[in-house]
Amino acid sequence: MRLLLIEDDDRIAGPLTEGLGRYGFTVDHVRTGTDGLSDTTAAPDLVLLDLGLPDMDGLDVCRSLRARSAVPIIMITARGEEADRIVGLELGADDYLAKPFGVRELIARIRAVTRRAGAPAYTPAEPSERPGPHQATSGAQALGPLALNRRTREVHLNGRQVALTPREFDLLAFLANDPGTVYSRQRIMDTVWDPHFFGPTKTLDAHVAALRRKLGDPRWITTARGVGFRLTVPGEPAASEAAG
Ligand code: CA
Repeated sequence: MRLLLIEDDDRIAGPLTEGLGRYGFTVDHVRTGTDGLSDTTAAPDLVLLDLGLPDMDGLDVCRSLRARSAVPIIMITARGEEADRIVGLELGADDYLAKPFGVRELIARIRAVTRRAGAPAYTPAEPSERPGPHQATSGAQALGPLALNRRTREVHLNGRQVALTPREFDLLAFLANDPGTVYSRQRIMDTVWDPHFFGPTKTLDAHVAALRRKLGDPRWITTARGVGFRLTVPGEPAASEAAG
């Protein structure tokens, strides 16, 4: 999948290009609206458009792109540009992300936008630095009554599918890499969220709470106070779970 990134700030564009590359995206990076609009060499599958560009208003870039193409557009906006976001969406942008954001959040938006646009849903490759004892297998893993399939990203509990958000699935799948093992909050944030994630880790607690609710039993995810979280199969003694 080829992305056109129109962003003048190399502190944003650098990590973004590198991070998206790890997920298998090809990124063409230009720094001005003029270059973005003249980039006709290879039609991009999606445009990431910074609204604050040095040579022209990002909203005008958005309008011009939309006038000639149905390419999905995700705006990148700074804090406080709420009015611009609304105008951008009215001009035909598909979504926006407010700085700062993580690569994984961006990829979730890319997937949602390309799905809405009718393109085949893009499935990102697992980044190479996320090894796990179960990830090299067919993708299916059974944990008592819970069945987790990394390839299809589906979770079944007692044979019934559990609807999880992409992030909830990633969190569950990460903890399931080694049931019974306590993962620290930082390790979870770095892996399930993003090494470039900035912000309070309260979002982790919110996702743990949502998973416990959806799995119908809070004991699925136990809190190691002051350390982190671990996955346990309710009713099974913790010592027997390390074998997975
Ligand atoms: Ca900018």
